[in-house]
Amino acid sequence: MNLFIISVGNELVSGRTVDTNSNLISKSLSAIGVETVGKISVPDEKKAIKEAIQFAIGRADAVIITGGLGPTPDDVTVEAISEFLGEKLVFHKDVLDSIREHFDSQGLVMPENNIRQAYLPESATPIPNNVGTAPGLFIKKDGKRIFAIPGFPSEMEAMLNGFIIPKLSGTEELTERFESFSTAQVPESQILTMLEKKLSKSSLKQIRFYPSYTGINLQVPKETAPAVRELLSDYIVANGEKKLEQVIGEILRTRGQTLSVAESCSGGMLASRIVSVSGSSDYFLAGIVSYSNEAKKKLLGVREETLRKFGAVSPETAAEMAEGARKIHNCDFALSTTGIAGPTGGTREKPVGLVYIGLATKEGWSVRRYFMPSERNIFRLKTTQAALNILWVYLTGRWGRYKFLDGSEEI
Ligand code: AMP
Ligand code: MG
Repeated sequence: MNLFIISVGNELVSGRTVDTNSNLISKSLSAIGVETVGKISVPDEKKAIKEAIQFAIGRADAVIITGGLGPTPDDVTVEAISEFLGEKLVFHKDVLDSIREHFDSQGLVMPENNIRQAYLPESATPIPNNVGTAPGLFIKKDGKRIFAIPGFPSEMEAMLNGFIIPKLSGTEELTERFESFSTAQVPESQILTMLEKKLSKSSLKQIRFYPSYTGINLQVPKETAPAVRELLSDYIVANGEKKLEQVIGEILRTRGQTLSVAESCSGGMLASRIVSVSGSSDYFLAGIVSYSNEAKKKLLGVREETLRKFGAVSPETAAEMAEGARKIHNCDFALSTTGIAGPTGGTREKPVGLVYIGLATKEGWSVRRYFMPSERNIFRLKTTQAALNILWVYLTGRWGRYKFLDGSEEI
């Protein structure tokens, strides 16, 4: 089973809105073995939509169209589909009832315009919309499947997960051919070097690398997975797609341990990543953004002398920030960040991109030095990733034997 995606909307073609829908659709469906063979974005024009369907249907077993299902006259996707099929639009009373209910439940009266949304091509089955008003539609024709779903990302996602994925999973024997691994804080080239030790060129070629600032995800054919697991053992943070903050959260929760953070250059992003995990209140106690020297002294107990002698961006300050946070919040672990995000403020001794990250535990503290010059917000993200990785190394008992491949050094 393969798929073609058509995203409809003037705003997508003009660049005002980024087409995130097609991205999520192909990613989610690839996880159940449905490969996307192509994507097109077209404006809200019937002719363009019809041509796109013609093109897509010649290339794939299933076509998903997103966008242009709204109640206003500029939404023409449903009409385009009916013209493509040569079918009339027919009225669905049950669809209108559920649209009316949606308005009622919010204490609103349904505008006349929405009646339009209850008309679907003859052979279409409506896909219920539990999030908004526009129904989706599903058509099976000559062995091909056509789905049309709204453009609003939350509505699109609800129909993708609630209708399309179950439908496509049920249609074929879909075998999961790949296993997925998440790594953190290892450059792609280093992963490749480790893998090359044992894997043949042809096995290597079949591994897909998906790098991001928060780690590299590897999709590995089932038969190669055991070898990859062994070769990368110290650097795989999870099976499947998982972020470090999730992995760390699971460990802390299981062990009943607690964490706090003291941030300078990452400016709250570390705390933000930690609390993005549902249930983080079980283990995350506090995050202090101590940007100024005054705040570092007042909120964390960093000594005046330390700041004067070594400066705010120094291993000594990083250590006192982490120690301070751990003691003030009486927790098992505290992470600290202090660095120079730039683009201004760098010097020869302390260039833009320099950052010290501290970890305080009940057994003592440790500081590592990193140099990661990047655009300001990417620097902040990389800093959070490096900090979470240090904690992960500690929590998983790798401390001492783990080889940092991220260019950092212990101070
Ligand atoms: P529509 O269903 O075409 O009326 O889309 C409703 C809203 O959803 C638009 O105003 C966009 O902001 C958003 N949207 C539509 N298509 C996409 C897409 N492919 N990716 C992300 N957002 C979209
Ligand atoms: Mg639109």
